[in-house]
This record gives sequence, C-alpha cells and structure tokens, in this order.
Amino acid sequence: MSVWNDLVGQEPVVAQLRKAVEDSASRETGRMTHAWLFTGPPGSGRSTAARAFAAALQCHETPRGCGHCALCHQVLHGTHADVRIVRPSGLSYGVRETRELVLRSATTPTGGRWQIVLFEDADRVTEAGANALLKAIEEPPPRTIWLLCAPSPDDLLVTIRSRCRMVTLRTPPAGAVADVLVRRDGIDEDVALDAARAAQGHIGRAKRLATDPESRKRRNEVLAVPGRLTGVGPAVDAAETLVKAAEADAKAITEELNEAETAALRQALGESAKGRMPRGTAGVLKELETRQKSRETRVKRDSLDQALLDLASYYRDVLTLQLGSGVQLVNADREPELRAAAGRMTPEATLRRLDAIVGCRERVDANVNPLLAFEAMTLVLHGG
Ligand SMILES: [Zn+2]
Repeated sequence: MSVWNDLVGQEPVVAQLRKAVEDSASRETGRMTHAWLFTGPPGSGRSTAARAFAAALQCHETPRGCGHCALCHQVLHGTHADVRIVRPSGLSYGVRETRELVLRSATTPTGGRWQIVLFEDADRVTEAGANALLKAIEEPPPRTIWLLCAPSPDDLLVTIRSRCRMVTLRTPPAGAVADVLVRRDGIDEDVALDAARAAQGHIGRAKRLATDPESRKRRNEVLAVPGRLTGVGPAVDAAETLVKAAEADAKAITEELNEAETAALRQALGESAKGRMPRGTAGVLKELETRQKSRETRVKRDSLDQALLDLASYYRDVLTLQLGSGVQLVNADREPELRAAAGRMTPEATLRRLDAIVGCRERVDANVNPLLAFEAMTLVLHGG
C-alpha cells in the first residue's frame, strides 16, 4: 500500500513524481520546483496524482508516500493543515477568490515542510484571476508549492504554464482500469471490463457504470438514439430527449448538495429555532445561492458532454468496423447493430456525423442554447 496505488496505468508519472519527492528530501528547499501542472484527459486521475504527490511531499516515512502514516492519511483525506485543496464549484474562479488564495498560500507551513496548494480545474480561473496567480508563481515564497490541474496545457495562460513543471497523464488502458475496479472495489471481472471499455479510460465513470444501474440506463438511452433517427421528426425529438435527460440528471445531483449546504450555512450563521435568520446574513446566503446556480450550470454541461462522448463512441465504433482496423470496440455489446450501421453508410458519412458531434460540443461550450445545438446535430446524424 502506498499513495501511488490509485494511479492507474500511469507508471511514467509515478516514476517522475517519486524522483521529485526524493530530490526534495535530499536537496535544499531552494531547488524545489514551486509550480507543477498536472494535465490529462478527464478521469485519467490528474487530481489523484497531485494529491498523492502532496502526500508524499509531507510524509516522513521511507519511502516517502507510504500511504499509512498520519500525514499521508491527512493529505489524502483533505485534512492536512498545510495542504489546501481548491475545487472550483462553478464555471469560473474569480479574481477576488484567487487573490485570497494567493495571500493564504504565502504563509509559513504550520507543521509540514511545505505549504501546498492543490488547484483542481485551474483552467476555470478567470483571466484577471490568472494574472493574480501568475504573480504568485513568479515569485513563490520558499516553502510554497502550487499543484495546478487542467485537461491540457493549452487551457492555461502561456505565461503560467511556462513556469510550471509538467506532469502529463495519459488515458489509462481499459485493462488497467478494470483491474483497479476488481482489486479496489471488489467488482466482478467481466462487469469491470465492460464498464472500463464503455468509460473509455475514465476511472470514476467506469466505477459508476459498474455500480450504478441508473447511469447504465442513461448511457443505453443515449446509445439507442442513432437507431431511432428514422426521420426529421424523430431527430428533433431525440435532441429534446437528450437535453432533458441531462437537465434532470444535473438537478438530481445538485439539489441534494444544495440542501445540505444551505442548511449548514444557515445554522453556522445563527438560524433561530423558528427558522429566522439574524440581521445582515441575507447577503451571505444570496452569495451561496449564486454559487449553487453556477455549479448547476456546470453539472448540466458536464452531463450534456457525457451524452456527446457516448454518442461519439458509437460512431467511432462504426468507423472502426468500416475501416476494418481491428481496434477493440467501445460498445462491443452492440456489435450487430454497429455492423448494420457500418454497412448502411460510407466512412465519409460517419466522419460527417462525428464532426457534427464535435461541432455540438463546441457550440454548447460557447453558450449556444443546448436544445438548438443538439437539434442541429441530430439532424446531421439522421441525414448528413
Ligand atoms: Zn506516509
């Protein structure tokens, strides 16, 4: 057992980080790199890698990052006083929040050797926020280390990423993902392998697909869409079905979180037994509400994105069959249907459909009304 155990299929990254930890222990603190950028596709384990690194940097055992001492435990569970984990809940992280973070990061560590800021989704920092962040990593206090996580280096200002040491995670192979589901979560081998393939290397999603019937059901509904596109009417209906399902999904996820958060904040602010709030607390509650709305927007977008990725995997499989490349199908359970589709259209037509899906992702990202973007896409999927 060690802190690196949960990093699936990332041997080169583990070797790189282990070496950095050993170097940090043997060298003067002045030689330590103060800003690191962890990149990799969603679900590859960017923040898992950053967290393991943070634990190993604080651990005193040999080898560092033992995974069972109190320090490792605290970092991994987010309770270590000198490791601050920042997880933006909304679509963006503003300049005021970033400045506050920069100020706090400059303090001397209370007990550990380093003051570490682990910034998940650092790509959500606004431009003004990024400039505040840049100043902090340009002239870092001697004991502060920034661990930034983002999907790709392009998601950060070039001035920031040029000051970071890069840690590049890859999409873990399905076999490695399945292994961890079997070993860590006790999931049946066949189920684990199917889920790992369907999730295309996204470890968290593979686990959800293996353990949550609802998420399997939603995925099947998305994959049933291509077969139902028998005309313009059904294509328009399919767009609506997809968008509504994503919205319902996001609502279910966020409502639960919102209720608990609001109740906790009201209590912390001194809510009376009759449910009355003390004077002057309305502003704080309003601020929470704004943050929650922003999070709902993001969860909804993630959910729409997931549907698009599943659809793309369908046409990728069709193309694989058309080209006879022998690559493992993502949706092996639908092979007969995929073969039929492969026989019905040309590879060029399949590529047009994949293009339409990519285009839809871009439009949703650019804040186009999702229903309009999805309709444009399903019309191409039907007749393009
Ligand atoms: Zn340890």
